Amino acid sequence: MIMGLDTATAQAWITRAADDVRAAEPRLTALDAAIGDGDHGANLARGLAAAVAAMTEKAPDSPGAVLVAAGRGLVTKTGGASGPLYGSGLRKAGKALGDATDAEPAAVADALDAMLAGIIELGGAAEGDKTMIDALTPAVAAFREAVDAGTGLADAARAAAEAAEAGLEATVPLQARKGRASYLGARSIGHEDPGAASTALLLRALAEVTAS
Ligand code: ADP
Ligand code: MG
Repeated sequence: MIMGLDTATAQAWITRAADDVRAAEPRLTALDAAIGDGDHGANLARGLAAAVAAMTEKAPDSPGAVLVAAGRGLVTKTGGASGPLYGSGLRKAGKALGDATDAEPAAVADALDAMLAGIIELGGAAEGDKTMIDALTPAVAAFREAVDAGTGLADAARAAAEAAEAGLEATVPLQARKGRASYLGARSIGHEDPGAASTALLLRALAEVTAS
């Protein structure tokens, strides 16, 4: 039987993401200092800490409820563009999971699709605009492809993390067309996008907590 995403694993994902982002805060801050205002690491570390707190307080009984609670926590406590984008994306993912207590890999693929669609709906970015969308789009596609090929959650999550990391690398030569980095015009070229970097961390955290 293929293992699904249960409540404990969803909680472990958010907790791990919060730990990994806190550890990477200086790097995310440096990336955002280069092409933004230098607050991405702090924004997301604070937001994910709030997500963990919201999730713990709510004692959710399904993976969908975990993501909805975490998304709410993120939206309320995170400054900058990224908080509302990630927060609403996580809420959409959680809602897509419904109240199943053990979401099968195909349902997790649907949830990641809903997260991507929610972030695009709110932020209006397209692929190639040098944002988190450039890491999340290939990640969601890789996850879906792995699930369609019959792999389990862990392998699909690993494929998604690798695709997100490749998507992050691919933001370096791009010129930003959304968010603060777009104010720099051609001077945004030659740097990794901070939001794409944090997206890669979030997917790597999912791969880590699902790995057997
Ligand atoms: P701010 O830019 O308000 O300081 P952050 O520094 O927390 O917010 O986040 C910056 C990141 O947010 C960017 O690197 C980019 O990936 C992402 N971002 C900004 N605007 C958008 C948008 N409209 N759609 C998708 N992602 C965006
Ligand atoms: Mg910023």
